[in-house]
Amino acid sequence: MYEDLGLKVGLEIHQQLDTARKLFCHCPTVLCTDEPQFEIKRKLRPSFSEKGKVDQAALAEVKKGLTFVYQGYDSVCLVELDEEPPHPLSEEAVDTGLAVSLLLQAHPVDEVHTMRKIVIDGSNTSGFQRTLLLATNGVLTVEGKHYGIPTICLEEDAARIIETRGEEKVYRLDRLGIPLIEVATDPDIRTPEEARDIALAIGQVLRATGKVKRGLGTIREDLNISVLEGARCEIKGVQQLDLIAVYIEREVQRQITLVKIRKELERRKASVGKKIIDVTACFSDTKAKIIESTLRKGGKVLGIPLPGFSGLIGKEIQPGRRLGTEFSDRAKVVGVGGIFHSDELPAYGITDSEVAAVTQMLKLEREDAFVLVADEVEKSRKALEEVLARAQEALRGVPEETREPLPDGNTRYARPLPGAERMYPETDIPSIVLTRERIEDIRAELPELPHVKIKRFTTQYQLTSEHAAKILNSGYEDLFEETQAINLKPTLFIKAVDILKALEHEGKYIEDEHELRLCFEKLARNQIVKEALDDILPKLAEGKKMNDITMETVSMRDVEDMIKELVAENMKTVEEKGMRAVAPLMGLCMKKLRGKADGKLINDILTAEIEKIVSK
Ligand SMILES: [Zn+2]
Repeated sequence: MYEDLGLKVGLEIHQQLDTARKLFCHCPTVLCTDEPQFEIKRKLRPSFSEKGKVDQAALAEVKKGLTFVYQGYDSVCLVELDEEPPHPLSEEAVDTGLAVSLLLQAHPVDEVHTMRKIVIDGSNTSGFQRTLLLATNGVLTVEGKHYGIPTICLEEDAARIIETRGEEKVYRLDRLGIPLIEVATDPDIRTPEEARDIALAIGQVLRATGKVKRGLGTIREDLNISVLEGARCEIKGVQQLDLIAVYIEREVQRQITLVKIRKELERRKASVGKKIIDVTACFSDTKAKIIESTLRKGGKVLGIPLPGFSGLIGKEIQPGRRLGTEFSDRAKVVGVGGIFHSDELPAYGITDSEVAAVTQMLKLEREDAFVLVADEVEKSRKALEEVLARAQEALRGVPEETREPLPDGNTRYARPLPGAERMYPETDIPSIVLTRERIEDIRAELPELPHVKIKRFTTQYQLTSEHAAKILNSGYEDLFEETQAINLKPTLFIKAVDILKALEHEGKYIEDEHELRLCFEKLARNQIVKEALDDILPKLAEGKKMNDITMETVSMRDVEDMIKELVAENMKTVEEKGMRAVAPLMGLCMKKLRGKADGKLINDILTAEIEKIVSK
């Protein structure tokens, strides 16, 4: 089915590196959890590229008129604040990037040049992100199919967004400058599932270096998606790999519906003008709360006619999202709360007769639609200009744009796709020559490739290849090997992986790996039972400590004590029935211990306990 739709997907994978220092300064690469120690405020200035052009995406951001607030700690320096030139590159990051390049059979460049990429959302204090091309023309082979890896780059991570307070965007500087490896694929991917598999495979290669960070947000994917007659859209910053397929399915649904809408608009000879009309008079004694309060504050209701759009604005393009939602997202960029469109009216207290009045005032016919915004006049006007621009794009089908992933698998408009003007050379950093010797040293020390590791896991630990792949995809393969040194049953580890994955799906993650290690140690020593994992792992994800948790859950010794107690309480039954007392007592034990201890284990302990008494 996806083949008929001409689906093309390319990925860009960004992986944080676990290096000793940041890419361009000597600060540590750790995120802080405590309250920030200082805050500074900056306004965005539109920067020009070398060619003197202002990027389209840059302009869209300037339009928002935002102030940026940067929060920092002692652990950041003047480089993150853009008050001091960058320090020389982290060689460790370059070497790690080169190892990834060689693992992906890419060709390292002769000289590494640092470039500046304009970033205007405030996530970089300098207004640009530094990026270095390390290698080109790699290839990844999965299930016999080859996927082109055109580029492998090293980048500095951006500051992380904390919140938006009205016109202020708040960022934290701890993440700014952490090295990222960016692996891009050609648009060779043809189905949503394939995209997920490729993302997983690249994740395995990255982790093979042993130099990557782990946890939510440490690996982020950009998905470039288009279908036949559609357009390239980039979903930026997907953090949950298991949602990749869903984002692609939903984007395909969006694009094919937008193409259908375009065809219907063509058939109706629909058009989009520039007229914005004051329709406040239609609402002189309105009961619609939003409109009423706007008018009381001196605002107006402005409207636009959309000839030929009737019934199409309300058309669903993703589950729960309509073309009207896209209009509304665009309008919200200038700071209004939202829009009203004729396909959803009467509603929100707007009556039939008010709709009729607007229809008459805008001189609409049967197939025509309208959109209203109620706010301060200037804001409403700007909002409707945005809606007109989006409606204009609907006449052409799918607009090229960057989209933001929503937690439910849908996406919304973020900004136009950035143009080619956004890269120019960084003059503060000298280029570095990659010597043949350096490349060969790295090649000689290359880590085990993922498919080799899977094979080794199947023989060394007697795993099925499914289980081996599952462990590798979980990202916990190193921890798995550690647990094998203390003889933890692989099935127990896999059970834990299932629980961890389910938690990650809910956005929960165990930050402190040491606690996880302690948990596996206790499990291997039979100090806790496997049933307790369901209890313990979510608590670790909440930030609790292993030593505090085991107090609350049932330990192996507790299980023995409880069974002994139960046997003592039912001594009469044991004396009467002998070994046949196991069955009724087992029922009582299970009542007390279900979910806390393994049934077979309880049975074994109980049988042993009764045997002791009977044989006396
Ligand atoms: Zn620094």
